Amino acid sequence: MPCETLNKKLNWYQLTAIINTQMTPTPRVLLTIDYEPWFALSRRFDTIEDTAIRKNLDAGFTRSAIDPILELLGVNLASFYLVGEIAEWYPEVAEKITSAGHELGLHCQIHRPLLDVVELEKDLIASQEWRNNHAVTGYRAPMVGIVEQGYPMLKKYGIQYSSSIYAPAGTLLDKDGLLEIPVSSLNLAANKAPYSAPRQFNTQLLMSGEVPYGSSFMIGLLPKMILNWIEKELKSGVSPVIILHPYELFPPKQFARKMAKDLFGSPQLLPFMLNKSYFLKALLNTFPVSSIRSYLEEMDLAKND
Ligand SMILES: [Zn+2]
Repeated sequence: MPCETLNKKLNWYQLTAIINTQMTPTPRVLLTIDYEPWFALSRRFDTIEDTAIRKNLDAGFTRSAIDPILELLGVNLASFYLVGEIAEWYPEVAEKITSAGHELGLHCQIHRPLLDVVELEKDLIASQEWRNNHAVTGYRAPMVGIVEQGYPMLKKYGIQYSSSIYAPAGTLLDKDGLLEIPVSSLNLAANKAPYSAPRQFNTQLLMSGEVPYGSSFMIGLLPKMILNWIEKELKSGVSPVIILHPYELFPPKQFARKMAKDLFGSPQLLPFMLNKSYFLKALLNTFPVSSIRSYLEEMDLAKND
């Protein structure tokens, strides 16, 4: 067995041993919000270089969405993975999130795919100041996509855990000291291979019977079924990780008109545009929720320093 593989296996076995000796935290929904401008969904604006133009496009949406979202959450605490330039446009957004007791994590500095580690490092450097100010320890990759070299890069810049792949709830992977806690999927396939990170979710996995129900795309398609699945998952003792976005809870003005061009070419974007505030209300009324960081802290697997 190659040494690298052996080391990875040892890490996994060591981690399993650690987890088994800890008191397993009470199952709960690990509620995460990728806090991004509405146009992140479009992807047409990924290449705009000028932050002032992007701020103009956002038109105050990320500033005005935060209060109703915090109000909707009430006393329930979630993980907010922030697009860092929002902290430059409206510093009060990050302040409001942390003042309300929620976890503030990193989504990226500027929203686009971060599969290129050179680009990832640019964002880690650009976000360093606000991340330090808010003791950020968690990361959610844009489009839930990460490459192998991304993990040591995150660790180098002080990130302790990532939630940047899809895998069944209860999966927790050790990437040389950095934890990967996946967004939840349900694997209905008979043959369940061991899960490893990175892991790109694709049509082949879907066709094999794995459903990424933690994605807001799936929540848009099957909200009631997903609430039922979550209940089953919690009863089986695992804690599902799910993603929502601000525009799904507090739609921007004229959202459909702004996205019309995108929807025409990519109708599969529609489930992301459906209002999910009713889903979130039902979720909060029915199940316990927490941030990912507090869950890991209860396991004693993350430090809040
Ligand atoms: Zn995103």
